[in-house]
Amino acid sequence: MEGKKVFCLATMGAFSGDGAGCSARLLKKCGATVLGGLHLKMPDSVCDSKLLKKSKEEKMETIRRAEEKIGRAVGQIKSGRYPQNGLGFFPHLVGLFGQRLWFYGKTKRYSDKLKIDRARCIGCGVCVRICPMKNFTLENQAAAPHGKCTMCYRCISGCPQKAITLVGKEVVEQYRLENFMGHKE
Ligand code: SF4
Ligand code: SF4
Repeated sequence: MEGKKVFCLATMGAFSGDGAGCSARLLKKCGATVLGGLHLKMPDSVCDSKLLKKSKEEKMETIRRAEEKIGRAVGQIKSGRYPQNGLGFFPHLVGLFGQRLWFYGKTKRYSDKLKIDRARCIGCGVCVRICPMKNFTLENQAAAPHGKCTMCYRCISGCPQKAITLVGKEVVEQYRLENFMGHKE
């Protein structure tokens, strides 16, 4: 990372005080030069709770706005001005008081709370392959989690059998960007 020039992109459901700033601070510690940051609101990924569900039209509108924002950011970058979302002192305070202090430690409580419905699991290994934390192994042809979950919801959205849950008790809906963009899965 030493000497690399980086641009930090943070996605969020509702708001991200300084999501890009958090990455930027870590990357700076590793020797990177941070050129800018961009915050993009995207459809929610928590697919085992009805609480956050929106209609397909609302989700598509969210994606359309994100694409517009990306287009504007690209225009700025081409003219040599990098967007600075989440990188200043004020976003740092908003992120600290609006998110981190409130959420502090709460996500850790879920690191070993992933549930696998063994009656549904077919041992396909998709979750093993896509978990960024390498939280799964296959044991006796079924997924076995190992207490390292960071609540990204990737496996829960990707399990073809809807066999994985975390906050809720059943998978209500699974989203992948391709579903909204008209591509085949
Ligand atoms: S992705 Fe689902 S079905 Fe496949 S191994 Fe994991 S839990 Fe089982
Ligand atoms: S939610 Fe994310 S971090 Fe947690 S086990 Fe699934 S893929 Fe891994």
